[in-house]
Amino acid sequence: MVDPFADGPSTRDLVAGRDYPRTYREFVKMFPDEEACAAYLEQLRWSSGFICPACGTTATPWQQTRGRLVCTACRHQASVTAGTILDKTRTPLTTWFETAWHVTTAKSGLSAKTLERTLGTSYRVAWAMLQRYRVAMVCAERTRLAGEVEVDEAYVGGVEHGGRRGRGTTKCIVVIAVELKQPKGFGRVRMRHVPNVAAASLVPFVCEAVAAGTRVLTDGWSGYNGLPKHGYQRDKIVVSSSGDPAHVSLPGVHRVASLLTRWILGTHQGAITTNHLQSYLEEFTFRFNRRTSRSRGLIFRRLIEQAVVTEPVTDSDVTHGYNW
Ligand SMILES: [Zn+2]
Repeated sequence: MVDPFADGPSTRDLVAGRDYPRTYREFVKMFPDEEACAAYLEQLRWSSGFICPACGTTATPWQQTRGRLVCTACRHQASVTAGTILDKTRTPLTTWFETAWHVTTAKSGLSAKTLERTLGTSYRVAWAMLQRYRVAMVCAERTRLAGEVEVDEAYVGGVEHGGRRGRGTTKCIVVIAVELKQPKGFGRVRMRHVPNVAAASLVPFVCEAVAAGTRVLTDGWSGYNGLPKHGYQRDKIVVSSSGDPAHVSLPGVHRVASLLTRWILGTHQGAITTNHLQSYLEEFTFRFNRRTSRSRGLIFRRLIEQAVVTEPVTDSDVTHGYNW
């Protein structure tokens, strides 16, 4: 079975109800106010003790309110949110936490519109939080896929072209890598929105997503010919003899792509624009790779853990699309 936390700190010693909430009731009890959220962030950010960002002192700092700490050596005021995706936020931490809870516990996540209604915030605030969490999610995917991996392009529909010359839906090319399990089933996935199916788009993706030495199954497309040079064992699976890139994908990729399309059309009602597609792919990946987790609360904790180690995301990135 996939260990969804293989790439993170061990979850073995974590105590349910203390280190992470199991239910919404426990969530509410654990995070009643700003102080409680700040204390949790502090514990995750400085898990092995506070380190002053200014002078490096490790002495226990003085505590102020809402995650503000004062270094006893240099009097530097450190904030638990500074330098993270929560940097300079004006949104209450309780709202951030509530969002993380819903995103990780709802089986298919939720759209900014649904979040707006659920939290009673503005659409803009809901959207900005989701976008920032999506950046934190990608940083959670560190270890490369291994074993036997299927790689193919899929044409994902339902995405809007947000161009100046009017809108319309378009099919986007997404290259997908899926770990295959024996005798059947899938492990983890990775995906990237690419402009075309040229080798220059496909090979760098494989190098980043799949560990060298892995057996990579592709179709006969020449765009993958360079893989052996990068240390992969490439096996061609014949799916069509036409050589037409608009083929039917390999079975694993096909399955993941149809789940992805269903998610885009269902949860997000197709309201995704091409410049934001990669953010959604990262969210899909984060959730898919943790689908066998023993507790949704652990996924919540993982997202918050990532949130405090992920660099700030600018407002421009939130609006126009993150530069992956
Ligand atoms: Zn200091």
